[in-house]
Amino acid sequence: YPPERIRNFSIIAHVDHGKSTLADRLLELTGTIQKGHGQPQYLDKLQVERERGITVKAQTATMFYKHAVETSESHVADTPSYLLNLIDTPGHVDFSYEVSRSLAACQGALLVVDAAQGVQAQTIANFYLAFESNLSIIPVINKIDQPTADPDNVKAQLKRLFDIDPSEALLTSAKTGQGLSQVLPAVIERIPCPPGSCDSPVRMLLLDSYYDEYKGVICHVAIVDGAMRKGDKISSAATGRTYEVFDVGIMHPELTPTGVLYTGQVGYVITGMRSTKEARIGDTLHQAKSVVEALPGFKPVRHMVFSGVYPADGSDFEALSHAIEKLTCNDASVSVSKETSTALGMGFRCGFLGLLHMDVFHQRLEQEYGAQVISTIPTVPYIFEYGDDSKVQIENPAALSLNTGKRITACWEPTVIATIIIPSEHRALLKYRLPLREIIVDFYNELKSITSGYATFDYEDSEYQKSDLVKMDILLNGQPVDAMATIIHNQKAQKVGRELVDKLKKFIERQMFEITIQAAIGSKVIARETLSAMRKNVLAKCYGGDITRKKKLLEKQKEGKKRMKRVGSVDIPQEAFHELLKVS
Ligand code: GDP
Ligand code: MG
Repeated sequence: YPPERIRNFSIIAHVDHGKSTLADRLLELTGTIQKGHGQPQYLDKLQVERERGITVKAQTATMFYKHAVETSESHVADTPSYLLNLIDTPGHVDFSYEVSRSLAACQGALLVVDAAQGVQAQTIANFYLAFESNLSIIPVINKIDQPTADPDNVKAQLKRLFDIDPSEALLTSAKTGQGLSQVLPAVIERIPCPPGSCDSPVRMLLLDSYYDEYKGVICHVAIVDGAMRKGDKISSAATGRTYEVFDVGIMHPELTPTGVLYTGQVGYVITGMRSTKEARIGDTLHQAKSVVEALPGFKPVRHMVFSGVYPADGSDFEALSHAIEKLTCNDASVSVSKETSTALGMGFRCGFLGLLHMDVFHQRLEQEYGAQVISTIPTVPYIFEYGDDSKVQIENPAALSLNTGKRITACWEPTVIATIIIPSEHRALLKYRLPLREIIVDFYNELKSITSGYATFDYEDSEYQKSDLVKMDILLNGQPVDAMATIIHNQKAQKVGRELVDKLKKFIERQMFEITIQAAIGSKVIARETLSAMRKNVLAKCYGGDITRKKKLLEKQKEGKKRMKRVGSVDIPQEAFHELLKVS
């Protein structure tokens, strides 16, 4: 396939507007997957994607499509075959880095908009991502089968917000199949073919990489110039290392060896890379020994939320370490460093792109790698400035030491620019600058509930602003629990301290002795509760009694202990840590 007969496009949209379903239909239409065969949202392969019904990883699939063209001279229809690379992308704001990466391999995008809901917050964010990357945008108004569909209204919105000519919009239903036959012809006619020079030495952009038990590191690449064949030697512009190409092919949609990839194609390559650390996303791979200009790559990810991840059972540190290493091979956007907590033992400090990303990471650790984890209260990265003008970024509240002798002179916190759309009678589009801390905890759920589910929300990171911050400790029987320390706004400290203490009282079970639970700022206690001692133990009920009953009770007690953490002399159930995440 010469570049003239290749088209690379992604499908972008707000969550739930039908990207993955549309991708299914296009794969069926081209015979890439069997109709009615397998599950819906074919490209959503991860268990977490299926359970939550969301796309987390961008997925590429290659399709072949015959397109009739009228040649101007003979008016005889010619039907050359085209190679189309479709990239389905996530819609949620946490995963927009996946979208921007995908767009780097594309010349066009289908901007899908729900015919009833109209333009939503992520529609706007994704439109601008595509627009700034100079992609040809094909608006697709989907779900026209719905009774409340109002395509004309959506056309007017597209015109008003993005200056898109209403005549350009395609009307489809990925459910009934209506209008779908126009989609691929529009892709071929309106999206330019990939640029690049076929005769130059091979040069490609590394889009994504993951680790496969059997095949080793698999890299997804977009060939910018030249061709790559099995047996070729390629080098990394980032590390200078050289590798042999063991296998190369396309995602059709499963890995399908082709022996070669040409200019403009998107596909996979397997080399002798041993870990995904060698496969740096955004890197340029090129013909060995040739001197080439590195491609622009991607802007580095910025971690918005940090949290400690610890094994639920202290002895499982090695297993957790292994699981995290494997999972980060498939999700390179998580940052990981070792940390130690006096309360929780050895664990990791992980940086995420948002709270949903964090949730998904935990769920994948449990489901795909069988790891049971305790995670600590998420925090945003704060910056503290000292009297001697030094600055330190704090990703773990426990690491903020107040008695280093150095005086803190200023605190800075990250902010975001939030876009909120309320499609009420008078469609309102609101823009705010908010502290990042305020939106990571439950903001979206609250917004949804006060607008009966109608409001949508998106944000982009913005600058740091000066802020009045304090470190709040939680003490159990007078001992600070490092894993429960938080950094919060001074004015919210009282309220949050109260909530934390109340929550903990609910979740910590009574034990053989009295437990005091306190929230404190420095040496000042701002909230306090006491959990009185338990009078009887579990065995008291069957004193001298039936031995099997006794065994059962002990077994049950052990079960309950499994996910406990002993802090000093106090057992804290995992749920307590979990509940703390939700306090704002
Ligand atoms: P994504 O988040 O954009 O990938 O959206 P999905 O493809 O996962 O679809 C979200 C929901 O909308 C699913 O329940 C689909 O079955 C449904 N859906 C998708 N396209 C249509 C359509 O054309 N009409 C109707 N009525 N429902 C659709
Ligand atoms: Mg999807």
